[in-house]
Amino acid sequence: MEWIEKHPDVSPRLTDYDAECSNLNWPDALARWGAGENQPFNMAVAAVDRHVAEGLAERPALRIIDRDGGDRSLTYGALQAQTARFAGALGSAGVGVGDRVMAVLGPVPEVHVAVLGTVRAGAVFGGLFSAFGPDLLAQRLRLAEARVLVTTTAVYERKIAPIRDRLPSLRDIWLVDGLPENPPPGLRRLADVLAEAPYAEPAATRAESPALLHFTSGTTGEPKALIHAHRAAVAHALTGRWALDLGPEDCFWCTADPGWVTGISYGVFAPLLNGATALVDARDFDPDHWLENLRDRAVNVWYTSPTALRMLRRAVAEAPALPALRHIASVGEPLDSETVEWGLRAFGQPVHDTYWQSETGAIVIANLPVRAIKPGAMGLPVPGCIPAIVTPGDPDSPVTDGAVGELAIRGDWPALFRDCPNRPDYRARVTRSGWYLTGDLARRDADGYFWFVGRGDDMIKTAGHMVGPFEVEAALMAHPRVSEAGVVGAPDPVAGEVVWAFVVPTGEGEADETLRRDILAHARRRLGPAAAPRVILFRRRLPHTRSGKILRRRLRRLASRISGRQSGVKA
Ligand code: AMP
Repeated sequence: MEWIEKHPDVSPRLTDYDAECSNLNWPDALARWGAGENQPFNMAVAAVDRHVAEGLAERPALRIIDRDGGDRSLTYGALQAQTARFAGALGSAGVGVGDRVMAVLGPVPEVHVAVLGTVRAGAVFGGLFSAFGPDLLAQRLRLAEARVLVTTTAVYERKIAPIRDRLPSLRDIWLVDGLPENPPPGLRRLADVLAEAPYAEPAATRAESPALLHFTSGTTGEPKALIHAHRAAVAHALTGRWALDLGPEDCFWCTADPGWVTGISYGVFAPLLNGATALVDARDFDPDHWLENLRDRAVNVWYTSPTALRMLRRAVAEAPALPALRHIASVGEPLDSETVEWGLRAFGQPVHDTYWQSETGAIVIANLPVRAIKPGAMGLPVPGCIPAIVTPGDPDSPVTDGAVGELAIRGDWPALFRDCPNRPDYRARVTRSGWYLTGDLARRDADGYFWFVGRGDDMIKTAGHMVGPFEVEAALMAHPRVSEAGVVGAPDPVAGEVVWAFVVPTGEGEADETLRRDILAHARRRLGPAAAPRVILFRRRLPHTRSGKILRRRLRRLASRISGRQSGVKA
């Protein structure tokens, strides 16, 4: 596989990777940000007030595209005023330090106001997907013990009103648009709340005070509520600069929903901490709007996901020239080499993978702009994080380069979650001997690049071989007629499990038996008979989580149902 060398005209902000890795010491880096242990530090002040104090009140903090396509800006000065009023409103409502404020909103500027205002007030902010149904919302709002909720009228009427009696701690609900007739007590328009609110100075938080709450996806049971501290901002700022190449003159677009950790850590904090302008597009996904944003809103740095890139790839025959675009990065699921190379063909920029989790709170491995990309690899560690591949569950037993094991990370990087209130033993379970165990399987090659293999739970054990679903998916996606693939194990009486692939074919031509055989032959050539899928089923689309990850759990159930039916027929 060809390496993609750094473009000679690109001069990334991280210039000397080796020196940064050997010199970085988190206590010093934190102290430089005023976020050392026990220091008074507030991440909203670092993101907004700091720039205003430096005379940059007129710099645009947000460039906002409203649902009707209207285009406006909000300066750092205006954002500071609104967040100070939001914090004042929390104070007037009796919300205290550590109380939880949740938002169920899509990408709208009120998210920025709510999260920055909440952490400014010393309370804890969490975002939830507005596409969640009432039960998922009720479960998370209860676990979070939400005291205030910021949402839309539609979400309130359809999903919150019916569950309100299940949420005893929820006292105030502020709506970003209209107010229904006869609003019950505690239900108000956010604009009215802000208009009456006093301007609040930042609360006296410390670097390790709780600030953000993120839920894990809950694929293996009840979602975990992870708490991150104010000092995580230092990791957001530095990884924003190192991995996303963000700087003060950039227009940055993070397409992640604010219900997902990426939408907050990198959608809100990383650009503001670096003094950049964040593009906030409130419209639903539409390939034409996306290309228009990249072209006409002069986006320089674009952070998105493999699923979004594949959707765009399917919809766009030819991408327009995007002279402003300097860096593309993706996160959330494995990035196959085809998509990296498609970026290069379509936009003149390869896509840079970045790896992290809600638990790590910030990017820990990335294809950095300063280094060559190996398409299909997650990349190299960011300075200050030291990953290793270890025997699953045992960080004291590293495995040799090239072998698959659990990805563990060492380092005192400040974004690692602090605690998990609904699973008090969780942090102790996943941190051992100074290492954090990710639960993901990966391998490191001789050049030090890390390759994702699969979630520990998703590995397929077939006839004595361990097969990572991503290797098979990546091989399938290298076939010109495959636009997306989801691979799982289905039970088999002889092999234990066999590899099944659910494949979304590209639009051209029939998805028939000839194509199925062709894809199978291609997979066998690339993977050998042990890992090649035994069964390929065509699908128009694959199930995804709200953050865009393939829902392999659902595919596994489907495969096992179908295989059960087939063995029933044979019997
Ligand atoms: P979440 O905490 O919901 O963001 O999910 C984190 C999980 O997503 C990780 O543990 C990985 O399994 C997966 N993930 C995130 N980024 C990547 C990536 N770049 N490549 C492969 N898997 C990823």
